[in-house]
Amino acid sequence: MSKLLTIGSMAFDAIETPFGKIEKTMGGAANYIGISASLFDIEQAVVSVIGDDYPSEYLKVLTDREIDISYIEIVNGGKTFFWSGKYHNDMNTRDTLTTQLNVLEHFSPKIPEYFTDAPYIMLGNLHPQIQLDVLAQLPTRPKLVVLDTMGFWMNHTWDTLLKIIAQVDVITINDEEARQLSNECSLVKAAQKIMQMGVTYVVIKKGEHGALLFHEKDIFFAPALPLEDVFDPTGAGDTFAGGFLGYLAKTDDISFNNMKNAIIYGSTLASFCVEQFGTERMLSLTKDEVLKRLLQFKELTQFEIKIA
Ligand code: AMP
Repeated sequence: MSKLLTIGSMAFDAIETPFGKIEKTMGGAANYIGISASLFDIEQAVVSVIGDDYPSEYLKVLTDREIDISYIEIVNGGKTFFWSGKYHNDMNTRDTLTTQLNVLEHFSPKIPEYFTDAPYIMLGNLHPQIQLDVLAQLPTRPKLVVLDTMGFWMNHTWDTLLKIIAQVDVITINDEEARQLSNECSLVKAAQKIMQMGVTYVVIKKGEHGALLFHEKDIFFAPALPLEDVFDPTGAGDTFAGGFLGYLAKTDDISFNNMKNAIIYGSTLASFCVEQFGTERMLSLTKDEVLKRLLQFKELTQFEIKIA
């Protein structure tokens, strides 16, 4: 069984969308990634940090999915990372209202011995120095390292960010972040510039407008499934990354062609994530539901054309 190691935030989130509001729910990139990747039969560990205010029921969500949590550090007397955001009416953009790093501020991840040889590594959105420290702890080069980041690190830790980008295989960012990172308006040019920074594959997520995969001169595009109701997009990007990497780890094939399938899986899982608040929908999701939606996805995107 392939091993996937994820490093990322675990959080309390407060979320406000045009459809409602929730004051405190389970959040953080590592939770969304771990839950999403658990739909594939792979071995997983999540490395993160929480305070002793973090409920044991939230940890149980990961252990119920057989995810190794033994290297999630619990800081006695510490407060768990807290994030709050408010979505605009289009649901594609949001304002971050609060970021309280709390225990995340001094996070120094330790990798479980059994996962130091994990072929698949997900570096969730964190300070790029933490992401570099994780790679430095691995005795051999993993098969595939996927990096997520955000505009904040581009503004504040540019040089360190460039170092980690040059060491990973895939970067997953949204369209706005890709434009900021490359200083290009065209996403095609942006991806080319980002590949010149040393990363082999660039995945650009465009929310309800789908996702693009770039590798050398090849481009693949997957639309997002048109949904009647989008309730809360929080975690969609991380759920996408968990599906993308979970699928690659399960199939153990990192060819460009197989990455196309991984993009479809990532998009399919993200389409569930947005249907309810926070992680709620992902927690009730079954493999059967995923299969049905994958077939819907196939129908949506397949056509035969008669040349006139
Ligand atoms: P996404 O909607 O996929 O971008 O991910 C949202 C999740 O990222 C939320 O659950 C937050 O707790 C988490 N998050 C937001 N800001 C940060 C940050 N600066 N560092 C780590 N995690 C974050």
